Amino acid sequence: MIKCVHCGAENEPIFTYCLSCGKPLEQSLSSFKPRPAPTTGVGSYSLFAVRADGGIGTEYQLIDGLNTIGSKGPEVVVKDDPRVADQHATVELGGEMAFLEDLGTRHGTFLRVRDERSLSNGDQLRIGHALFNLELRGKRPQPAADGSTWLGSAGVESEFFGRLLRLGPDDVVIEAHLLHPPETTMGRTGGDILMPDDPFVSSRHAAFVWTGSSCVLKDTGSTNGCYLRARGRVAINDGDYMLLGHHVFLFKRSKESAGK
Ligand SMILES: [Zn+2]
Repeated sequence: MIKCVHCGAENEPIFTYCLSCGKPLEQSLSSFKPRPAPTTGVGSYSLFAVRADGGIGTEYQLIDGLNTIGSKGPEVVVKDDPRVADQHATVELGGEMAFLEDLGTRHGTFLRVRDERSLSNGDQLRIGHALFNLELRGKRPQPAADGSTWLGSAGVESEFFGRLLRLGPDDVVIEAHLLHPPETTMGRTGGDILMPDDPFVSSRHAAFVWTGSSCVLKDTGSTNGCYLRARGRVAINDGDYMLLGHHVFLFKRSKESAGK
């Protein structure tokens, strides 16, 4: 299967375009290289540090090609955060495409989910202060050849499509929430999964929707968003937010190139 770098959907390798978002699947191959921009010099994109009050702070102008983010940069230097590695992640720019890739760090690099995103087994999410691991169930047993249902496969078997495991220090599971079809909602004051003590969680924050074959995460209008851990290379777009340690960055067209 090829996992789409744009939307996260899994596709059979025989397809040319992603069945979910329609983008070329070629861009999701590890061998794919973004085309170099026709001009050199000032890059068209920057990372902006997002302050704790939501305002925009320091601008880091990105170069065409590979930019490294970490406590040692060099392109984007993140200081005073023990969860950010010397060389933590890269943003690769070329033409009109941009990719974010975590460099195998312990604490990971997370990308804010825009509207909705299809999730895979083993995905990690940061919502408010919490870190979650998603565990999707394997395929349910097929009915027997004569159409009868396996004894024991009804009831419990069909009541949930996965579990959301909240991780504590050292990745120990401290809470487990069952995800029920058609959807399981999460919020500070309302929803199936309540997070009353986390001020960074909105009253109605997110929903985990079961489509019948896959799990889709929907941001239901939260203030601080849901962040999905980048596994391998993921495509990023103007206006995307990323999270490393406790640092949030906005990927955006730089001021110099605005209106170009
Ligand atoms: Zn796609």
